[in-house]
Amino acid sequence: MAEHYKPVKYLPWEMSLEERFQEYYPAYSEREAVLEANRCLYCHDAPCMVACPTTIDIPTFIRKISTGNVKGSARTILESNLLGASCSRVCPVEVLCEGACVLQHDHKPITIGRLQRYAMDYAQEKNIEFFQKGEPNGFKVVVVGSGPAGLSCAGELAKRGFDVTVLEKREWGGGLDTYGIVVFREPVEVSLGEVKMMEKLGVKFKFNTEVGKDVSFEDLVKEYDAVFVSVGLGAVPEMEIPGEKMEGVHDGLEFIEETKVKPLKDIKFGNRVCVIGAGNTAIDCATIARRLGSERVSIVYRRSEAEMPAYHFEYQFAMKEGVSFMFLTQPVEVIGENGKIKALKCKRMDLGQPDASGRRSPVEVPDSEFEIPCDMLITAIGQKKLTYITDKLVNEFGVKLIKGYISVDEKTNRTAHPKIFAGGDCIRSHGEASTVMAVEDGKIAANGIHVTLCGEGAHREPALASKK
Ligand SMILES: Cc1cc2nc3c(=O)[nH]c(=O)nc-3n(C[C@H](O)[C@H](O)[C@H](O)COP(=O)(O)OP(=O)(O)OC[C@H]3O[C@@H](n4cnc5c(N)ncnc54)[C@H](O)[C@@H]3O)c2cc1C
Ligand code: SF4
Repeated sequence: MAEHYKPVKYLPWEMSLEERFQEYYPAYSEREAVLEANRCLYCHDAPCMVACPTTIDIPTFIRKISTGNVKGSARTILESNLLGASCSRVCPVEVLCEGACVLQHDHKPITIGRLQRYAMDYAQEKNIEFFQKGEPNGFKVVVVGSGPAGLSCAGELAKRGFDVTVLEKREWGGGLDTYGIVVFREPVEVSLGEVKMMEKLGVKFKFNTEVGKDVSFEDLVKEYDAVFVSVGLGAVPEMEIPGEKMEGVHDGLEFIEETKVKPLKDIKFGNRVCVIGAGNTAIDCATIARRLGSERVSIVYRRSEAEMPAYHFEYQFAMKEGVSFMFLTQPVEVIGENGKIKALKCKRMDLGQPDASGRRSPVEVPDSEFEIPCDMLITAIGQKKLTYITDKLVNEFGVKLIKGYISVDEKTNRTAHPKIFAGGDCIRSHGEASTVMAVEDGKIAANGIHVTLCGEGAHREPALASKK
C-alpha cells in the first residue's frame, strides 16, 4: 500500500506530550508587542477593521499597545467583541483582518490576532472588569446554549439591564470554544474565563439543563419576554457504510473533546490513522493524532485538493505536521478482524459535473477498490442539525427554515415568531461558520431584542465601568 501515502515528516518528538499540546503560538512579551504594534500604519480607512465581522477598531487597539495603554487596548477590543480572548486565538485571521492588512503584499501583515491576545491576556491577568450590569429594565430573556453566540448575546443584554438566564445542557459553558477547538489553539481556561466574565455581569447560568428534556421550549416562550436560540449543531453524522460501528471508529468531535477534558496520557490513539473528511475539523483531528504520537495519519477525501473545505493555511499546517492527504478517494467499508478495525476499503474517484454546491461532483472509477491498512478511523464529515428545537420552532411557532437552518431577519436575527431570536451555527445556511460570526450574531440579536422590547429609540450604549 506504500504508494498511496505521501512521505511523512516527523514532529520534534523530543518535546513532551504536554509541550506538544501547549498553545501553538507563544504569547508576545511587552517588547515584542510594542515593536509589532509600531509597524502598523494606523490606516485611515483600515481594511483590517472592515474585514472583522465584529468591526473591532483594530488601528486604535494597536496604537494603544504601542503607547503602553494595554488596558485601554483591551477595552477597545471588548467594546466590539466580548469574546475577544477566544477570537484572538481561533479567528481565521489569514482570511479576515490579517488577510486584508495593507502590509500583506509588500511586507508581512501585522499579526493582529497575536496583538489582540496580548491585550486580552493582560486584562485577564490583572482581573480588570470593564463593564457592569446595566440598570434593571424589567425584561427577562432566556438564552438556549452557551456557545459564543449565546455568551455574546447574554453579555450584551446584561450590560443594558436585561435579566438574562442561560440554559446549557453541558457541564461547562463556552460551547465549541470549550469542547471543540483544538487545545493547542485555545486552552479550556480561556473560554471558561469568558463565561466567568458574563457571570460577573449578572448573567445567570443553569448548566446540565437541556431544553427539550429538563425544561420545555414552550414554557420558555411563555415565561420570558424573549428567547435567543443558540444551540449550534449536533454530532458528526453516520457515514452509512458497513462496519462503521466497529471498535476503533471514532466521532471526530468526541476525539477532539477528549484532548480538552482528559489527561493527555489517557487518550487512546492508533498507530495508523485514517481521518475521513477534509474540513477544518478533519485537519484538527489529524494534527491531534500526530501530536499524540500516531505514526501515519492520512486524510481521506472523495474530491480533490481544489474542492476541500479546509482553509488553505490549515491544509499547509497539517502537511507540516506530517499528515498525508489521499484525494479522490471514497471510503466504502470498514474492514475488521476480531471486531477491531484493520483497514478502510475505498474506491478511486474522478471529478464530474458541478453539483448543487457548485463543486465538481465525485464520480466512481470502475473496478478501483483498494484497502488502506489502519487501526483507527476518525469521522469528520460535518455536523448534524439539531432536530428537537428546529422541529418545535417550525411546527409550533411558525418559524421558517433554510436548508434545515433557522431562518432569521438579518438586521435583528429575529425569526418569524416575534419573541424568538436565533444566531450562531444554527442559522448559518451558507458560508463558513466561525466563532467571530457567532459573536456578531449574538450582538445583532441583543440589539434586535433591545429595540423590540424597549422601542426604536432604546438607549443602546452599554454601561462602562471605566472610560480609560
Ligand atoms: C472541530 C471544530 C473546530 C473549529 N475550529 C474553529 C476555529 O479554529 N476558529 C473558528 O472561528 N471557528 C471554529 N469552529 C467553528 C466554531 O466553533 C463555531 O462556529 C461556533 O462555536 C458556533 O457557536 P454557537 O454558539 O453557534 O454554537 P456552539 O459553540 O456549538 O454552542 C452551542 C451550545 O448550545 C448547547 N446546546 C445545544 N442544544 C441545547 C439544548 N437543547 N439545551 C441547552 N443547551 C443546548 C451546546 O451544548 C453548546 O454549548 C470550529 C468548529 C468545530 C466543530
Ligand atoms: S490594515 Fe494593517 S497597517 Fe493598516 S491599520 Fe490595519 S493592521 Fe494597521
